[in-house]
Amino acid sequence: MKRRDFLKLSGLSGGSAALGLLTGTKTLAATAKFRLKKKVSESSTICCYCSVGCGAIVSVYEDGAVKVEGDPDHPVNRGALCPKGLAMSQVHQVGGKLNASRLTQPLYRAPGAAKWEEKSLEWMIDAIAKRVKKTRDESWNAPASRTEAMASLGGGELDNEECYLLSKMNRALGLVYLEHCARL
Ligand code: SF4
Repeated sequence: MKRRDFLKLSGLSGGSAALGLLTGTKTLAATAKFRLKKKVSESSTICCYCSVGCGAIVSVYEDGAVKVEGDPDHPVNRGALCPKGLAMSQVHQVGGKLNASRLTQPLYRAPGAAKWEEKSLEWMIDAIAKRVKKTRDESWNAPASRTEAMASLGGGELDNEECYLLSKMNRALGLVYLEHCARL
């Protein structure tokens, strides 16, 4: 089909639809038969991922979010959402059910190991703290009051306040390489 034919056809279909609306013919009568029986509510929120802070509208059915879309009235994103924001509801649920793929315990893979093993949060915090202390002690540049042996990469699920605290902690530790995945 040529471009001109396509435009003619679109004009024709648009005109017929408009005529249908004006005259209240079958098109409107047919949709009335499919009235929504389920109560779906909508509420606005802010995306929980990066510090862009896009506005979103969440459709909720019973206890679960069934749809997330960009808020067209939000001044930051004006209705758009990146794929991460669009998948926001899956953090908790998929298709109204608890997301079975969601991790509920930290996973650890030892150096050289092929498998991940579940560890408690306390074990993980302790192990990270020990490694941070050891690396910092071994690499400390006293004249410059800093270490260049460690870097920090913020995750996409950190909100503004968490990023602020993380930066403060890292600066206090003497780190100079700070990044966030939303900037990469
Ligand atoms: S993760 Fe995407 S949708 Fe969410 S705030 Fe950032 S840019 Fe917006």
